[in-house]
Amino acid sequence: MITAIYPGTFDPITNGHTDIVRRATRLFDKVVVAVALNAGKEPACTLDRRVELAKTVLAEFDSVEVKSFSGLLVDLAKTEGAEVILRGLRAVSDFEHEFQLAGMNRRLAPEIETMFLTPAERYTFTSSSLVRNVAAHGGDVSSLVHPVVEAALKDKYSIETE
Ligand code: ADP
Repeated sequence: MITAIYPGTFDPITNGHTDIVRRATRLFDKVVVAVALNAGKEPACTLDRRVELAKTVLAEFDSVEVKSFSGLLVDLAKTEGAEVILRGLRAVSDFEHEFQLAGMNRRLAPEIETMFLTPAERYTFTSSSLVRNVAAHGGDVSSLVHPVVEAALKDKYSIETE
């Protein structure tokens, strides 16, 4: 039984994230989607909201669990019995940061391997920050996020501009 942990800010979860999760469910027995508090990044949505949206979007996958965390990822990975940390790579620009993270996590927990998956080509340009930006200016993000996320973004940004 191999468990993979897929950490991120998921602010909000996009179809790119879901694409990675779908691929991971074919490879691992269990996938824990770990939503980081990530105070340093000052997320646009609260932790509870990000978790709730991820749970709704990923409800179709029986082997996926969504959890929140605020400490070290490797500590959560150990508690969950995860052998693999999973990250998505969209472009070369992701690589430098991901390589550093993987190196640090290996130093902290040598027994855990970081693995990378790439999304379908159509999600290569999708990021949570771009989705937020487009939604904040009233742009159409329906092809980039699940309908519940689209509705949540509409809610958020219509309230903010009132
Ligand atoms: P973080 O703040 O940790 O980068 P994100 O929620 O932005 O969290 O992303 C989580 C992981 O998913 C990262 O490894 C990121 O590279 C990856 N990811 C984000 N968007 C996509 C996408 N469209 N396709 C594939 N991987 C993605």
